Amino acid sequence: MSQEQPIAIHWLRRDLRLQDNAALFQALHSGFQVLPVFIFDRMILDDLKEDKTELTEDKRVVFIHQALSKIKSKLRAFGSDLVVLYDDPMAAWNKILSKFPVAEVYTNHDYEPYAVRRDEQVAALLQAKGIVFKTFKDQCIFEKGEVLKDDGKPYTVFTPYSRKWKHVLESNPIRTYDCDAHFGQFYQTKDHFNIPGLESMGFLETSVDFPSDHPEEEILRKYGEQRDIPSIRSTSRLGVHLRFGTISIRKLALKARENGYGTYLNELIWRDLYMMILWHFPHVVSGAFRPEYDKIPWKNNPEEFELWCQGKTGYPIVDAGMRELNATGFMHNRVRMIVASFLTKHLLIDWRWGEAYFAKKLLDFELSSNNGGWQWAAGSGCDAAPYFRVFNPELQTQKFDPKGLYIRQWVEEFDSLEYPAPMVDHAFARKRALETYGFGLGKTAQTSLM
Ligand code: FAD
Repeated sequence: MSQEQPIAIHWLRRDLRLQDNAALFQALHSGFQVLPVFIFDRMILDDLKEDKTELTEDKRVVFIHQALSKIKSKLRAFGSDLVVLYDDPMAAWNKILSKFPVAEVYTNHDYEPYAVRRDEQVAALLQAKGIVFKTFKDQCIFEKGEVLKDDGKPYTVFTPYSRKWKHVLESNPIRTYDCDAHFGQFYQTKDHFNIPGLESMGFLETSVDFPSDHPEEEILRKYGEQRDIPSIRSTSRLGVHLRFGTISIRKLALKARENGYGTYLNELIWRDLYMMILWHFPHVVSGAFRPEYDKIPWKNNPEEFELWCQGKTGYPIVDAGMRELNATGFMHNRVRMIVASFLTKHLLIDWRWGEAYFAKKLLDFELSSNNGGWQWAAGSGCDAAPYFRVFNPELQTQKFDPKGLYIRQWVEEFDSLEYPAPMVDHAFARKRALETYGFGLGKTAQTSLM
């Protein structure tokens, strides 16, 4: 193809797949040949680096790199290719526009405040050059204002939201996008574009076994009864694939609906809820959803935080969870709730410390769900656990890991004398949490227990 012929760009971000991709489908129907592009955002990657002089190990960056390599080889099989840049997004766009005769740009919505600002800047740049910029919903089933209360306001409580979500679905059935039938529309090129190596971007080339992107029928079928048992593979482990779009949320939600996996579908609705909350209430990124919770006088003891991070609290279920997270980048949802409650209520450490630690470690890190999960545990979020609900780690263990099977998977010294005593007494911590929260919220006087 001649360089003169105008083309369309599909800008891949968190939709790293060629199948059932909303914006890609529209691009392939634009009448232009379509060149997919991905930008490793230098600013985002720099934030992940602890020490700028050494290579950083980050499984998410490895995951993205692998996903791009797969996309690239599929595109090469169609005589096309993938352009991957490592740059500041605006600089990257200037390079793309100087190299290719771009007529239109297609991409999928991203609801995170940083991404929204970035997209506004790119939109302005494209507009100034007379290039059409088209964006689509792809990473959730319902977005922004699609599921609202009758008075037009966003929901902040899950149960009525999910009811309305299902109601809206009745008149807006999920449609999938058959991109495959239009792969002939990809930009044809004999040039090979390279994907920047991980090391050239400051990251270690590591071999990681990522969870399969194939939903396991057996797990989905038993999800309702087993999802709270952390010692077995009771959940789908699809979080990382939903995060980076290596699977389609539409196909997954359709599967859940068609097979009657209602409890599983509800979890996907929680995901939509938190994305919608982030869109309507972007202040949650830095503060409590309920601003009165910003007044809680956190203890924020760094040594105690460190014991929590390392899984050395003397509470076996908490320690098992933190060690699983540190070793694998995953933690079971039930255990995420327990460790988050422990940090915020037993240790009175600001939920944002825990949120940031999870953001660094979780393979499936998702700003909206992570923030929602932390604020839920801290009591400060939408539809959150009430502040006076303090999980008792022992009772939680009796209920969800009664034989200590999960604990023994991660806390090797559990049965030995080496295992530390609890760093804080539960009854004491519970009372202190109630008083501190009560004081912060203006409900009680603060006592000598602080
Ligand atoms: P499954 O149980 O198989 O669920 C399927 C999918 O539904 C998940 O992959 C996820 O996309 C979605 N989902 C499930 N539960 C929730 C939920 N409570 N809220 C929103 N979406 C949900 N989830 C993330 O994707 N990223 C995070 O960074 C994240 N941080 C969390 C932090 C805390 C403190 C808590 C309590 C929860 C957090 N969650 C997060 C929600 C949940 O723990 C994970 O989605 C789930 O454990 C991922 O495992 P899975 O893929 O096997 O999930």
